[in-house]
Amino acid sequence: MDDAGSEHEGGWLLVEGETVAAVGAGPEPEAAERVDLHGAVVTPGLVNTHHHLYQTLTRTRAQEADLFTWLRELYPIWSRIDAESEYAAARTGLAELALSGCTTVFDHHYVFPRGREGLLEAEVQAAREIGVRIVASRGSMDLGVSDGGLPPDELVEDLDAVLAETERLAAALHEPGPGARVQLAVAPCSPFSVTGRLMEESAALARRLGLPLHTHLAETLEEEAYCLELYGCRPVEYLDRLGWLADDVWCAHCVHLSEHDIARFAGSGTGVAHCPTSNLRLGAGVAPVRDMLDAGVRVGLGVDGSASNERSDLFFEVKQALLVARGRDGSAAMTARDALRLGTRGGAAVLRRDDVGSLERGKCADFAVWGVDGLELGGADDPVAGIVLAGPSRPDMLVVGGDVVVSDRALVHADEAEIAQAHRAQARRFTG
Ligand SMILES: [Zn+2]
Repeated sequence: MDDAGSEHEGGWLLVEGETVAAVGAGPEPEAAERVDLHGAVVTPGLVNTHHHLYQTLTRTRAQEADLFTWLRELYPIWSRIDAESEYAAARTGLAELALSGCTTVFDHHYVFPRGREGLLEAEVQAAREIGVRIVASRGSMDLGVSDGGLPPDELVEDLDAVLAETERLAAALHEPGPGARVQLAVAPCSPFSVTGRLMEESAALARRLGLPLHTHLAETLEEEAYCLELYGCRPVEYLDRLGWLADDVWCAHCVHLSEHDIARFAGSGTGVAHCPTSNLRLGAGVAPVRDMLDAGVRVGLGVDGSASNERSDLFFEVKQALLVARGRDGSAAMTARDALRLGTRGGAAVLRRDDVGSLERGKCADFAVWGVDGLELGGADDPVAGIVLAGPSRPDMLVVGGDVVVSDRALVHADEAEIAQAHRAQARRFTG
């Protein structure tokens, strides 16, 4: 996943401490320790660009609903979230992601019921324990139903409180620079749950603190109708007016972009988190990713929350991105290597992380080892295309900054069965 897309058949990877010291093929360099990978495919660790970890607590709800109906059913249930349940949810989602080859996770948390402390700290703690990098976000909603928004009034916050809390979390959690394990983004939720003023003030704060900006955008046609009615313009134009089309911003979904919108994204450097499974699950449509890539838009992949994609499997999303691109634009619309690039280098570019996403000298030693000895890859003469087209599968090994996080297809620092059991105990509080 370097600029040239180099592949090293019969290759090796030399790791020193937390970084890649060299990568190549042929005679191996001197090393203190050697691990034989038995002909496996090694890829950079996948980078997830959109998620809501807390939603693992509420899977399979509103099964046939569109986005707005689904949200209206789920908001009151989500208002039960607290630090304990957030911790259980995050451990589950992060474990699923690690077991799908993901080494860097962005999470968009925007449900902050009044008086519940420590929600972001809980998910950061879970990421540290499992061993993956996290870009957490202080999301927000301040446009309740009585002011024309979608969320119930009891779930929206005061603008000043949001900004103060964001600044506190940035000071407490955000690590600048390469190799960061924990970072913070500023992420007001969506045009139908946040006021224009909070969007503008969030952008000003993020730019003062040097944090990236994220929001949901152009997910459904209902959202477009909502923006036309309330703001007199379509979602991308609305974002443009607020100063939100810029190279420190990425938006989730972007299913309903016009040719002009795509050109604006490309020209401004605005990134996109493509979440194909969630978009299909909610019947939202399929984002024009081929057109975005041709225009030069930064695009990465996201599993999205587990209430609209029950599975936090980012490697499945790589395959899904290939399938939906071909379903929309024909069989040449996306190659297996294009799809793999979206899930790795593309995601890193979306998060503005040039320290991850590729295996090159000086990059973080974040990589996934995919065995090719199993039933599903027999007869595959192209193992790279094989792991994508026959996916998803668990990596044999996952390494984050030189630390082995998954070994023999199991978590190293945590117990999968215990996580699942603890999660079920918390999830019971979200039923009925
Ligand atoms: Zn989302």
